[in-house]
Amino acid sequence: MVTEILKIDAYAPDISKIKKASQIIKEGALVAFPTETVYGLGADALNPVACAKIFQAKKRPLEDPLIVHIADKQDLFKVAREVDKITLDLIGEFWPGPLTLVLKKQEAIPDIVTGGLDTVAVRMPNYKIALSLIKEAKTPVAAPSANLFGRPSPTSAQHVLEDLDGKIDLVIDGGSANIGVESTIVDLTREPFSILRPGGIGIEELRRIIPQIEFYKKDGILSAGMYPRHYAPNAKILIVEGNGKTQVEKVKDLAREFDLRGYRFGILAKFENKDRYGDFNVKLFGPGNDAVLCAANLFSALRDFDQDQVDVIIAEGVKEEGLGAAIMDRLRRASVVSEKDV
Ligand code: AMP
Ligand code: MG
Repeated sequence: MVTEILKIDAYAPDISKIKKASQIIKEGALVAFPTETVYGLGADALNPVACAKIFQAKKRPLEDPLIVHIADKQDLFKVAREVDKITLDLIGEFWPGPLTLVLKKQEAIPDIVTGGLDTVAVRMPNYKIALSLIKEAKTPVAAPSANLFGRPSPTSAQHVLEDLDGKIDLVIDGGSANIGVESTIVDLTREPFSILRPGGIGIEELRRIIPQIEFYKKDGILSAGMYPRHYAPNAKILIVEGNGKTQVEKVKDLAREFDLRGYRFGILAKFENKDRYGDFNVKLFGPGNDAVLCAANLFSALRDFDQDQVDVIIAEGVKEEGLGAAIMDRLRRASVVSEKDV
């Protein structure tokens, strides 16, 4: 299969191009497309065969359910049942946007989308290309991130091609996904309501609607998906938490040690520390006080280290507030060496 690349303007999408892409979805094939969080790999959510192709292309385990994307709040009722006031309050506040809700599913949603569960994850993205693609396809679109399973999520069409070239029909090149980490997932099917995965919407914002909401934790690990090792580059990641001078000194100690041992390594650093590490291979993800920028650059920095073929990445941790919680969650998962480690 040859993967076609279709360039579409993110601010003024050309409708004839969108129609071409949506036709591919209607025909049961796969289209990768940008959203405000990361690039998604889309298929008709009501077509089980099309959805199966997602699992095949990504090498994703079948028990890991997909998020269904809609272009109109009203379409929520086609995907989920028992939509109550809390749900409506949340979508009134945060949709379109990086918030995924887990709700009871409608019968029309095939088992392959939900991993056989009676619940479904659904969101309305805040990105013109994604919204018009879904609208033109006239069906909800199941779309996980458009990467190979376990790899860092793609924030550009180029990243998608690195993982999936030749395995999918079309990728829409619509620029860089601007948030850069995935949506926050909230489970509304079990009380107390909980956050299954931290993401684009912070817990502080959600507490305006659900004051008692907490992160769902199992054995101390945030529990989005069942996979501890996730979002991972080829290199091993070591996270150095903290901030300021002590953090920099710890990073330097590790760097010197790796250097002595002859390892190939890189340092993922905050802007303010860019001159602290001399000639070592340093990539910057954002200023420590701007989690938004750090999130936007995180996955592409990890992929850049893979291009450099480093064995180890020493990553400076960030403050766990707002998007910072999502960044630390992704770094921790990416740093798990093997599933057995946890
Ligand atoms: P992604 O790989 O970014 O598409 O994220 C999909 C994730 O959404 C899965 O790994 C699950 O953690 C979560 N998810 C999807 N559907 C459900 C569901 N019905 N119940 C709980 N979590 C879900
Ligand atoms: Mg994913």
